[in-house]
Amino acid sequence: MSKPLIFALSKGRILEETLPLLADAGIEPAEPLDKSRKLLFDTNLDNVKLVVIRAVDVPTYVQLGAADLGVAGRDVLLEHGVDGLYEPLDLRISRCRLMTAGIEGQAPGRARRRVATKFVNVARRYYAEQGIQAEVIKLYGAMELAPLMNLADEIVDIVDTGNTLRANGMAPRELIADITTRLVVNKASMTMQHERLMPLIEQLRHAVEVRNPDASAVG
Ligand code: AMP
Repeated sequence: MSKPLIFALSKGRILEETLPLLADAGIEPAEPLDKSRKLLFDTNLDNVKLVVIRAVDVPTYVQLGAADLGVAGRDVLLEHGVDGLYEPLDLRISRCRLMTAGIEGQAPGRARRRVATKFVNVARRYYAEQGIQAEVIKLYGAMELAPLMNLADEIVDIVDTGNTLRANGMAPRELIADITTRLVVNKASMTMQHERLMPLIEQLRHAVEVRNPDASAVG
């Protein structure tokens, strides 16, 4: 039997929206993912396995060929870069915005802005494009705390409802990018495994189109 196709899924919030979409596309885990500490799962499809990993690790797995395809937020892809990856399909799930944000009612002041974020590459690019001098500070969580603690003037973070910002006396400022979840495919796999990958991609494309009948061409 040939080597299984490995499909890498992002854990957490994205996974909850990915599994119903995969089911619509006829791809289902052989057992419930949340009832187990396993990380590698069989599916209803012969020779297709799922791995469930941290969202930030998905581009690395797919880029290096440990996984043939994966599901990753555009935020993660913008931060990581997409060398070695194809991005054939916008899955149109987990929609949110990557934004700058600061303390409510306070305009960004200093000539050289201090910015706390886990998206350091995105932030550096964004402020450079705006011609704003920025000192970018890498944090791994609770970004909203940084301006309150005087660690930063501004943050760059994901905003969905805006509730997290509001709850901490902060408000969104500038939009950096609209984010949705994307299908990514390893470039070498796309060539070597074309006949096995294309039906999966087309099933997913169809499922996305059925769910988004008004949307223009997908992906
Ligand atoms: P909200 O309070 O609804 O604006 O959600 C903001 C927080 O939820 C952010 O700090 C993110 O960490 C997380 N979040 C919301 N939507 C997403 C998403 N699509 N992908 C990853 N994280 C998200």
